[in-house]
Amino acid sequence: MNVIIFGPPGAGKGTQSEFIEKKYNLFKLSTGDLLREEIKKKTPLGIKIKSIVNSGSLVSDQIINSLIENIISNEDYKNRIIFDGYPRNLAQTENLNKTLLKYNQKIDLVIRLKVTLDVIKQRITGRTVCSRCGSTYNDFFNPPKANSTCCQKEFLKKREDDNVDIAIKRFETYEESTEPVLGYYNKMDLVKDINGEASIDDIYSEISVYLNVIEG
Ligand code: AMP
Repeated sequence: MNVIIFGPPGAGKGTQSEFIEKKYNLFKLSTGDLLREEIKKKTPLGIKIKSIVNSGSLVSDQIINSLIENIISNEDYKNRIIFDGYPRNLAQTENLNKTLLKYNQKIDLVIRLKVTLDVIKQRITGRTVCSRCGSTYNDFFNPPKANSTCCQKEFLKKREDDNVDIAIKRFETYEESTEPVLGYYNKMDLVKDINGEASIDDIYSEISVYLNVIEG
């Protein structure tokens, strides 16, 4: 199955995708992670996009679409991708549709996490990411386990775009450019709404119900 996890920045898409990819043996395709990797490695692409990513605007569709085709075309990931942070506008949605068709695939489910701006501000200001394994935490709601062998304090880093002003900008970008994507998938009857303000475990249980139906 191919699944999209949809919602504003800070909705918990990354956290839930981590659980889902392990349990259902899917491959998490996070365009944000791919871009941050390029920035970290200081590749020509990373240097070009750094200021765009850190300002909360969207990187060009052309760059994003080429990154995702590399993965969709890979037989190892065929029909087992969870899309996190893509598609983010209607042009990307049409491109995704076209690319999936080219490789005989389709989207089976769109999980939409609904969260208000107030909660997003709290989530984003508290978010940390383990620089060793990539796991996402929150200082207030979801700190790493005290006995974790990997995610110790010195490895927990803040993202450069995780501050309140940029969070607001990213939320506005989401409302303007990304939310219209829902209409596209609603017409295909693929969207399941989930309260993204519930606990991490409750959200995951609800998502699992839908995924289990698809798995059969
Ligand atoms: P994320 O990790 O999904 O919150 O993405 C972080 C930032 O990367 C966004 O604010 C954008 O600047 C950029 N980005 C990630 N995914 C996309 C995408 N599909 N299209 C354009 N820009 C993206």
